Amino acid sequence: MIPLPNVPGIKTSTSDVIVIGAGIVGLAAAHALLLAGNSVRIVEQSEPGTGQSTRTGGGIRLAHGSEINVRLAQLSLPTWLEFEKRFGIDPHYQETGHLFLSSEDTGGLATQAGLLESLGVPCEVLSEEEIGLRWPTLDSMDFAVGSYCKIGGYLDQHQVIKGLAQTVQTGGAHFELRTRVEGILRDGERVTGVRTSDGSFTGETVVNAAGSHAGVISVLAGLEIPFVSRRHELLVLQETARVPADIPWLIDTDHQVHMRPDGSGRALVGGFLGHDDPDDPDDYDPTLSERWSTAVREQASQSFRLSRPDSPVLRGWAGLYPGTVDYLPVLEQSAPGLITAAGFSGTGLMHAPVVGEIVADLIREGATSALDISALQSSRFDNEQRVVDFTGF
Ligand SMILES: Cc1cc2nc3c(=O)[nH]c(=O)nc-3n(C[C@H](O)[C@H](O)[C@H](O)COP(=O)(O)OP(=O)(O)OC[C@H]3O[C@@H](n4cnc5c(N)ncnc54)[C@H](O)[C@@H]3O)c2cc1C
Repeated sequence: MIPLPNVPGIKTSTSDVIVIGAGIVGLAAAHALLLAGNSVRIVEQSEPGTGQSTRTGGGIRLAHGSEINVRLAQLSLPTWLEFEKRFGIDPHYQETGHLFLSSEDTGGLATQAGLLESLGVPCEVLSEEEIGLRWPTLDSMDFAVGSYCKIGGYLDQHQVIKGLAQTVQTGGAHFELRTRVEGILRDGERVTGVRTSDGSFTGETVVNAAGSHAGVISVLAGLEIPFVSRRHELLVLQETARVPADIPWLIDTDHQVHMRPDGSGRALVGGFLGHDDPDDPDDYDPTLSERWSTAVREQASQSFRLSRPDSPVLRGWAGLYPGTVDYLPVLEQSAPGLITAAGFSGTGLMHAPVVGEIVADLIREGATSALDISALQSSRFDNEQRVVDFTGF
């Protein structure tokens, strides 16, 4: 433990690890760190889960287009399947599988299926006829080819945050809520703590799990990592009686629109629709935009033929994909005493369990044996050696 700095008039406390952000990534890291025997302080500017982690579609997916994303999802899946046993709360996981669709058979979906199979994830390439035979409700769709991965689905993110936050609190983590990190304390090169709106906290390690604000924290630490937040919206359609519960999560890769059943005739619809606009995490509008709502319902009805352009909206919202310029996260020791675990774009929920374990490994061992995370080093932004994942949605 490093000694408390003697700063008169300022509240100071110390712990082994200070985690910035009580989103899914920060909470998962805190959980793994507590299990490894560390004392943990979580500094959160609002309440647990009030960032992007409760704005998701709840998606858990093995069907990615890069090895690193597949492996992170594979290693996290057991936690989702055993969540109730481990955290005492049912996350209501529903397995739908994912069906990626394309109107031209250019080989891209077959490449994805080949990657998944090579990593032990069952995935089939299906023709239009085979899709119609397997799911008769989908026989009016007009796609040349699909790739279907049966493992994956969605869960209730609110249950997940609640289960994790309660477990972490019971496990002894100190929560500093409604407390904003405003500075990073250093001793030479070494990060030694944080300065907040409610005093300073010191620790042997600081974890930047600030989601869409990870870039701000990086700058405070004197780093330049190209984090980018991008606006993403979702809506739930009601009375879409033709969306049965037993169809997969459908992804039209040509038009970047997706739809999944959401229980008794409702459907969740989302997608970039080709507009992947950066947005300001301190000044974005979290409400559903009328323009996007109209456009996505129009495209979903054309693509999947299960809903109408004027299907009524039960609810909708906007959030930010807290990403990087290449959509992959940064997971590394960025400086002595500083771990960065941020920039997960549309995968932060599904990858969080193993990310938490990797953060704990990096702090304890300086490395992880869970998997090769060299693709997630921020140095990739300097040398153009980047992994491309073509299935983000
Ligand atoms: C519409 C939408 C749909 C999505 N769908 C999915 C999906 O289906 N599956 C999936 O896996 N992912 C999905 N995502 C992505 C997912 O939401 C993110 O990857 C994930 O929530 C990132 O978690 P996080 O803990 O890094 O960030 P956050 O949940 O945003 O947590 C960061 C926390 O840090 C706090 N913070 C920030 N700055 C400070 C500061 N200075 N001081 C103190 N606290 C601070 C914030 O208040 C926040 O609580 C979706 C995202 C959106 C917007």
